[in-house]
Order: sequence, then structure tokens, then C-alpha cells
Amino acid sequence: PIYNEEASIPQLWERLAKVLNENFSGERDWELIFTDDGSKDRSLLMLLELAKAEPRVKVVEFNRNYGQHPAIFGALSEVEGQVVVTLDADLQNPPEEIPKLVAKVEEGYDVVGGWRQGRSMNDSIFRRLPSKIVNAITRKTTGVKLHDYGCMLRAYSREVVDAMLLCKERSSFIPALANSFAKRITEVPVGHAERAAGDSKYGFWKLINLQFDLLTSFSM
Ligand code: UDP
Ligand code: MG
Repeated sequence: PIYNEEASIPQLWERLAKVLNENFSGERDWELIFTDDGSKDRSLLMLLELAKAEPRVKVVEFNRNYGQHPAIFGALSEVEGQVVVTLDADLQNPPEEIPKLVAKVEEGYDVVGGWRQGRSMNDSIFRRLPSKIVNAITRKTTGVKLHDYGCMLRAYSREVVDAMLLCKERSSFIPALANSFAKRITEVPVGHAERAAGDSKYGFWKLINLQFDLLTSFSM
């Protein structure tokens, strides 16, 4: 998901290309899908340039800003692989963790959640407190005891992705939705870094909006 990330895209691509090329080839080749979620900066242009030079890169273009979870859905509907990894574009989720997550799905897990380590150093208390509340509510409503539902560095099996794509809700909360279709769920510790550039795209209202999606979609 890309929303005004022009400052992060070059480093994001450089690190992704390295880790993907070093770990995946042949039968286990990679593909990379970016959704431009209505960016107003040069993000879309930059992504289209990448896609022109590398056929394994695809770009989904949204007409306006819909939000991170709809943007991920946009990419999921294009994805062809057997194992699907999602991650943020601002390099808070290290791309170097991707092989670890893929290995877990190949081991037989349907959903592999990242559990961010050392987050307190990179996100303010005002960003972490809402996450704590979201995690607590999600644990209650879904009955699945994960530590970190907000980490979008996650991996899914093809089956879970297909099941999610059958859901036509306009708004959803992907980690909770995925868990509802998964039998074997696990969590792996993953690194967490400071945002490479720019500011969080989650203002107060976007967080409230996401919380409402979670409550209205996954509770009575
Ligand atoms: N994002 C998006 N649409 C939005 C808000 C965010 O596609 O409306 C993307 C953003 O570009 C980034 C990811 O979602 O790749 C996570 O956003 P951000 O880093 O701003 O959130 P935070 O880390 O503060 O939770
Ligand atoms: Mg971020």
C-alpha cells in the first residue's frame, strides 16, 4: 500500500529487489504488487517507472485515497503466487524478514503474523496506545490470541487469500478477516524500524475509522 511515499520508494525497491532476487527464483519466483492509494505526490509515476523496467512488478492504481486495508485488498486481487506477504512501504517493516515469513507458510501455516520487536523506540505513545486498544478488542472479538494485529508485515496461504477475496465488504480489517479463514495461525518476531521518511499517514480519524471497521465487521 502506497500513499504519498515518494521519499521511501527508492530505498524500498532497492531492499525488496535484493531480498527477493536472493531468495526466490525458478518455481518459487517472486512478484511484487504496489497499490497506489490515491497519492498526490510522485509515488504513482515512480511505481509505473519500476513496472516498466521490471515485468514482475505490477501497479494497481486507485482513483482516490481509500485507506491501507482497501489498498492491500486491491493488490491481493491481482496476486498470483501461492504465498502472499504484505508489508508497509515506509520501511518500518524490514523487507529482509520476508523469507522467514514465507518459510512458515511453506511449513504449513495459513496465516503468519509479524510481531514487532522494539516498537517503543520508533512509534510514539500516541500511536502505540490506540494499537494496544485495537489489539485487545481484536483478541476479544476474534478469539485468536495474537500479540500484534496491527503489524502488516504478514504472510498468507493462497487458500486464505482466495477466501478473503470472496468477501465483498467495502471496509475490512485484514488480519482479523484472515484469521477467521485460517486453521493454523502463528506469529514470528520481526524487526521494526523508524519510518524511513515523511510522517505517518494515519491521522486520528483514520485510526477511528479502522477501529469502527473492526467493530462493525467482527463483533455483534
Ligand atoms: N497507507 C495507504 N493509505 C492510507 C494510509 C496509509 O496506502 O490511507 C499506507 C502507507 O503508505 C504505508 C502503510 O499504509 O505504506 C502504513 O501507513 P503508515 O506507515 O502511515 O502507518 P503507521 O506506521 O503510522 O501505522
Ligand atoms: Mg508506518
